[in-house]
Amino acid sequence: MNAIQVAQLGGPEVLSCSEVDTPEPVKGQARIKLEAVGLNYIDTYHRTGLYPLDLPFIPGLEGAGTVDIVGENVDDLEPGDRVAYAGVPGSYAEYVVAPAEKLIKLPEGVDTRTGAAAMLQGMTSHYLAHCTYPLSSGDVALIHAAAGGVGLILVQMAKLRGARVLATVSTEEKASLARGAGADEVILYMETDFEQEVKHLTDGEGVHVAYDSVGKSTWEKSMNCLRPRGYLVLFGNASGPVPPIDPLLLTQRGSIFMTRPTMINYTSTREELVQRAGDVVGWIQSGDLSIRIDRELPLAEAGEARRVLEARETKGKVLLIP
Ligand code: NDP
Repeated sequence: MNAIQVAQLGGPEVLSCSEVDTPEPVKGQARIKLEAVGLNYIDTYHRTGLYPLDLPFIPGLEGAGTVDIVGENVDDLEPGDRVAYAGVPGSYAEYVVAPAEKLIKLPEGVDTRTGAAAMLQGMTSHYLAHCTYPLSSGDVALIHAAAGGVGLILVQMAKLRGARVLATVSTEEKASLARGAGADEVILYMETDFEQEVKHLTDGEGVHVAYDSVGKSTWEKSMNCLRPRGYLVLFGNASGPVPPIDPLLLTQRGSIFMTRPTMINYTSTREELVQRAGDVVGWIQSGDLSIRIDRELPLAEAGEARRVLEARETKGKVLLIP
């Protein structure tokens, strides 16, 4: 099969398409013929070595397609089933093998490409808004990069929970998408000091929670935007990793909480995975959640797809089509 490989760490140019053996499922696994592969920011951290992996590797953690073969002890899947998943390595390829317990059957009304686009960013937004800091009516939330893959979904989920959303984005075009997703206020954080603007928009009180996936360039001001006992939820490093933080800072900012969550710990049992994915897929079916696919590129153009994503040119999901 064709697959994208990383043989050395570096920029998008290290992604090369080559012919590799098609993987075979073992006990408890199914093989999926991929129809769409979801791109995520974590693929960058793997490729650059921020999150180390053994070389060479096939990047990518997300996709959707049709079950092709099932291994032993897989009772609830059969060839032809349409499935989607997040958190399965080796996804920039024509086929992937996955533990059956990671797979979610896609219902009628949710097409395979939308399934591939929704799983990782959808379940991430779900755990952030429902569990890490469970938003409720009257809460004020700051959401950075609100026109990104996670951003557009998180804004919609925060609104479904009844929160007031203050969003940041880099351009006017992204601002209009964030507003379309439901953001109450949008701040162009490349032009305006978002800390001052958040203070102004909250009459000096600050927000209950800051969801910060930008990291290095925003974490400190995000922390300053919190009201006492607020939550700083650091969940990404798009601008670079956050440096070590002195716990006394949390005291000085008003007994605030800081957490650095990852999806794995919020989908660690089959029950939790099915519940989160079920909500995401159900809201897509009911029309409560819209998934914006920014663009689709052929698998062989993975390098270009990564380039535009990392250059902040994309607004929503980027898919590779094998
Ligand atoms: P996005 O589509 O949101 O792309 C990243 C966005 O970050 C850009 O579009 C840009 O938006 C913003 N950004 C700000 N500064 C920079 C910079 N210096 N370089 C690049 N981008 C920058 O990506 P994803 O939706 O895939 O992921 C969003 C974030 O969420 C990532 O940090 C990712 O690691 C994190 N994440 C964390 C998970 C977890 O469980 N912890 C799971 C999934 C994602 P703008 O132009 O508006 O500034």
